Amino acid sequence: MCLFCKIVSKEIPSNTVAENDEFYAFHDINPKAPVHVLAIPKAHYDSFNDIPGDVMGKMGIFMQEVAKTLGIDQSGYRIISNIGENGGQEVKHLHFHIVGGAKLHWGHFADADPKDFF
Ligand code: 5GP
Ligand code: ZN
Repeated sequence: MCLFCKIVSKEIPSNTVAENDEFYAFHDINPKAPVHVLAIPKAHYDSFNDIPGDVMGKMGIFMQEVAKTLGIDQSGYRIISNIGENGGQEVKHLHFHIVGGAKLHWGHFADADPKDFF
């Protein structure tokens, strides 16, 4: 069983933000912003590549509710899913980072210079 499947089954403890039959949201163990929550489907998908469209629709509604619960829906926030090797995905169970609570940085995502590709 993968790490986040163990979190879903409560075999590994986590700090719950919201939960329903299909989705779970919990605080990231190593927060990178004042608010840093992970939202996951309880069913295991390796990454965003694999989630069916109908489940993704419900996932989106769940994350909208989580942002409201966290009180960041109006101040603003970011949803990030790291996918695969270049995406920097460490845990191979689809998760969305919901980060906010302060003005977030925005900058180059890659060491490679984007100008080299045009
Ligand atoms: P990734 O790099 O795969 O997109 O993100 C994985 C995230 O999971 C990281 O932000 C990391 O801090 C978080 N994380 C890893 N292990 C645990 C854990 O056992 N509990 C919680 N709550 N978060 C974890
Ligand atoms: Zn899993």
